[in-house]
Amino acid sequence: MKTIVQKMDRNNLKPEEFALAASLLKEGQLVAFPTETVYGLGGDALDEMAAKRIYAAKGRPSDNPLIVHIADASDIEKLAVDIPKTAYALAGRFWPGPLTMILKKSDIVPYSTTGGLDTVAIRMPSDEIARELIRTSGLYIAAPSANSSGRPSTTKAEHVKEDLDGKIAMILDGGAVTIGLESTIVDLTGEVPMILRPGYITKEMLEEAIGTTEYDKAVVNKEKNVTIVAKAPGMKYKHYAPKGDLTIFEGEMSAVIAGISKAAKEKEESGAKVGILATEETKDKYTAGIVKSIGSRKDELSIASHLFDTLREFDTLGVSYIYSESFEEGTLGQAIMNRLLKAAGYQRVLV
Ligand code: AMP
Ligand code: MG
Repeated sequence: MKTIVQKMDRNNLKPEEFALAASLLKEGQLVAFPTETVYGLGGDALDEMAAKRIYAAKGRPSDNPLIVHIADASDIEKLAVDIPKTAYALAGRFWPGPLTMILKKSDIVPYSTTGGLDTVAIRMPSDEIARELIRTSGLYIAAPSANSSGRPSTTKAEHVKEDLDGKIAMILDGGAVTIGLESTIVDLTGEVPMILRPGYITKEMLEEAIGTTEYDKAVVNKEKNVTIVAKAPGMKYKHYAPKGDLTIFEGEMSAVIAGISKAAKEKEESGAKVGILATEETKDKYTAGIVKSIGSRKDELSIASHLFDTLREFDTLGVSYIYSESFEEGTLGQAIMNRLLKAAGYQRVLV
């Protein structure tokens, strides 16, 4: 299949640019598009064949459910049943935006979209290209991240091309995304709202809107050898992984820099190529390795939005080992570390 790439100018979006994408979606084909979080791989959420195509293109296990994207908040009433008041409160506060809610599914949602579950994940994105695509198609669009399963999520159209060229009908290229980490997922089907995946919308922000909200155990786990049954089925799979062997160094910053420099030097002496994931504040302090700054610690969003991109860059450079600083502080620390720990398979060095 030849994948059509359509460049979009965010300052001058034209209806005709959406027409082809919308008609492909209506035929059951797949179209990748930008959202404010990461690029999504879209297909008609109510079409079983489209869902199957999504799993096939990504190489994704079919029990890992898809998030359904909508353009109008009231559409939750078509897709879900027994909707709690908290869902309306969260929609009013955070939609459109990077928050996904898990609700009981209605009969129109096929099990192929929900990975066999009786619940459905729903999000209303704020990205103008995503919203216009949903509106023009008149569909609910199932869209997981537009990467090959297991690889870092895609934050630029070029990443989507790397992973899915020839496997999907079209890519809408809206440039680099703004947040760069997937949406926060909150499960509203139990007694207490549960965060299944941390993201830009934090626990504190949710609690301000709906009161007590808890983290699922799998979210706060930092250990490799702990078995926890993940409530978001996707969380049990290997995720976000670069090709190089990634290790996170944690501790006081000068000890982290010394530890990473030493490990990098040793690997380089044995002939291996080493990448170091650093920040503006530390990038000049390393004495070995290929150093990449993912942003300034004073600007969390720059770190979030460059994380996946930098992991992919190390792949392109062909490094065998990647050593990373850790990023626990700030409002986005939880979400950034969650992705980084998974990318590293929970491999950490405490210095
Ligand atoms: P992705 O869009 O690729 O980040 O994948 C969607 C994420 O949402 C995966 O981690 C899924 O496990 C999670 N998810 C989707 N639907 C549900 C659901 N009904 N219940 C729990 N988690 C879900
Ligand atoms: Mg994903």
